[in-house]
Amino acid sequence: MAEIQLRNLSKRWGAFVGVENFDLTIADKEFLVLLGPSGCGKTTTMRMIAGLEDATEGDILVDGNRVNELEPKDRDVAMVFQSYALYPNMNVYENIRFPLKVRGIDPATHDEKVRRASAMVELDDFLHRKPAELSGGQRQRVALARAIVREPNVFLMDEPLSNLDAKLRVSTRAQIKNLSHELAVTTIYVTHDQIEAMTLADRVVIMKQGVVQQVGTPVDIYDKPANAFVASFIGSPAMNLIDGEIKDGVFTAQNTTVSGLNAPDGPVTLGFRAEDANVTENGQSGEINAPIYTLELLGDSTMVSVRIGGQLVSVKADKTFRSEIDDKVSLHIHTEHCHLFDAKTGARLG
Ligand code: ATP
Repeated sequence: MAEIQLRNLSKRWGAFVGVENFDLTIADKEFLVLLGPSGCGKTTTMRMIAGLEDATEGDILVDGNRVNELEPKDRDVAMVFQSYALYPNMNVYENIRFPLKVRGIDPATHDEKVRRASAMVELDDFLHRKPAELSGGQRQRVALARAIVREPNVFLMDEPLSNLDAKLRVSTRAQIKNLSHELAVTTIYVTHDQIEAMTLADRVVIMKQGVVQQVGTPVDIYDKPANAFVASFIGSPAMNLIDGEIKDGVFTAQNTTVSGLNAPDGPVTLGFRAEDANVTENGQSGEINAPIYTLELLGDSTMVSVRIGGQLVSVKADKTFRSEIDDKVSLHIHTEHCHLFDAKTGARLG
């Protein structure tokens, strides 16, 4: 059992803010993902929870007990880093066993624990190998097994997949998801990859410049981004965002007219996703009428992009859609799926 409470947690170095007022309760057994661009404060948050970094302000509670002053080794958390941090001179078995030795766990239990952890990450056949004799994916699995063997109350994972190639990342991601289901241990996972966040998380926390922008389930965040930053960070491709003006419920921008919107007059940013519009070759009948900037065949669909005011606007078309760059097309936007954001602050309107 491990519920983690972060209460107004901040980290500053002089005047520089690394993390500001992070306030969240992470439920027992929850898989929480911290997501955001490089430098937004994800790792710093994680390091404060692990005890590797002192908080400037705020409290960290585990099951109601304040742990700010506890040494990392006394916090019952296991960390998995992007650099696997394996001991090169020890074989896989000894690497996985190491935390048990350090913690003074009864040696009679080691063999069973090591074999159970290595089986969970499918390393049974590699126990005698040294790290240098393993692939990147296998090394990362050793690092995972070394965390699992400790049977901690909390897993902290900092970009564990980022050193793996794209294919291995997908299979290791699936393995982590399956493992987390099996182990049912509170997990905090840091990534800047929104697909990893969406596929793994019970809840996602999106951060920007040390400040939490939104906390929610992947579906909540995808369907109802709290601001234009979140909208532009989640989804592949990112949500289309067009700066323009609303007057009497009609949004206008270059080559764009969208009516039937419910917002006060003034400048706004209109957002819609690539799947929330369709394309026709007649270049006069849609909400957006513009020449094709680029066409990408994706296998199951074709991504058609036009440029509006310097921004790319992409729409998913049928895989059989064929046209040429510069051909005029119409984009028909499903207005019920449009999002409106304040032009200045980026905050969601409505
Ligand atoms: P990445 O995805 O690149 O790892 P991150 O979101 O994990 O980024 P952090 O490592 O938490 O970001 O860093 C947050 C900010 O704090 C960054 O701007 C970083 O340069 C700064 N920072 C981190 N450690 C220190 C330090 N010891 N002294 C001063 N600034 C620091």
